[in-house]
Amino acid sequence: MNLQKIFDDTDFVHTSGTKEELQVAEYLKAQCESMGVEAYMEAFRVPMGDIEEAHLYADGEEIECRACQCCGSGSVEGELYYMPGTDSVSIAGAKDKIVLLDMAGVTHFVYQDLMKAGAKAILFQHGNMYYPHADIDQRDLREAVVGDGKKVLCATIHSGEAVRLVKTGVKQIRLEVQQREYDGKSHNVIAELPGTCDEWIVLSAHYDTTSLSHGAYDNMSGCAGLLGILEQMKEQPRHYGLRFVFCGSEERGLLGSKVYVAAHAEELDKIVLNINLDMIGTYMGKFIACVSAEEKLSHYITYMAAEVGFPVESKTGVYSSDSTPFADQGVPALSFARDASRNVAPIHCRYDLKEVLSMEQLQKDINFLTTFTKRFANAATCPVSRTIPEKIRKELDEYLYRKRKEA
Ligand SMILES: [Zn+2]
Repeated sequence: MNLQKIFDDTDFVHTSGTKEELQVAEYLKAQCESMGVEAYMEAFRVPMGDIEEAHLYADGEEIECRACQCCGSGSVEGELYYMPGTDSVSIAGAKDKIVLLDMAGVTHFVYQDLMKAGAKAILFQHGNMYYPHADIDQRDLREAVVGDGKKVLCATIHSGEAVRLVKTGVKQIRLEVQQREYDGKSHNVIAELPGTCDEWIVLSAHYDTTSLSHGAYDNMSGCAGLLGILEQMKEQPRHYGLRFVFCGSEERGLLGSKVYVAAHAEELDKIVLNINLDMIGTYMGKFIACVSAEEKLSHYITYMAAEVGFPVESKTGVYSSDSTPFADQGVPALSFARDASRNVAPIHCRYDLKEVLSMEQLQKDINFLTTFTKRFANAATCPVSRTIPEKIRKELDEYLYRKRKEA
């Protein structure tokens, strides 16, 4: 397989619900089929918002902003309130204000708290004030964040502007947004290598990007990983079947994998393990495993790493990727990644490009992942307990906004 070509062929932004995302879905399907393995797509709904106009005025002066998709349309005016913390005292100060956060997004509970406090609108920030460009990421106001709460207008400004607003003591903010909201489509791409029994290991990786990113590292590298494993495993004997799921819309809150586990709820008891890849193959960075299952699996990986001579730092926990919906439904799940410093391999920005990837390292990562997959595919019986430990379940409750994170 020509790994480099995968990155050359997908070297463009392909965000959730766009025709470019569909183009990459079709490309991955064609890649599976070129290896003689049939693949199909499962479409699902994603909320979309085409921003038609967005204006932000700070004491009358217009500054650049990007309104959040799906936050509604209209206009709002109020006093600026810079809120660096999310404690109750800070939240109380948000009443009737337009709140500027230090973050690029907001969690469900902070959003709910802000609504309860009576915040009029929210401003996020993105970027680095010393970078030579002024990119502003396109964010969306997620359904999981809003929940049953009301929507307020939200927009993102550049961090350089955020600093300037605070420094110059800007008082009054006016935000005007006009957008067309509608239901769009995203897709999961699925290919199967059946085993001799009707139980499966699901291998997953997302292929969508954020608004400024070409997504070479995050996460065409994981998709190339799945294709590489598929290529090697199709010639190997298999007790358990291998199902490869290329997920759409991960960057908007794991939408593809959440839909997958919901749509396949009936068959989940036949899935013995989920192996998820999110960001591998970089020149720099250490290989990690994050196991959302019993601790024994994490120990197994550590032992196996020593045995085959491939360094892996393994721990248990919840990973912010497509393994999480599987674990949440009781399927033992884990994510693998080559975790590089954001200084050498940035993500979710224009610098997530194929130049950060080493095809040699990627091939080594794929070889290790194939060895791991082969062992489980040929296990007489998958040894991983289906009981998700209490500690992991608590983390899942917090990650999926069912419980507040304990302070
Ligand atoms: Zn990712």
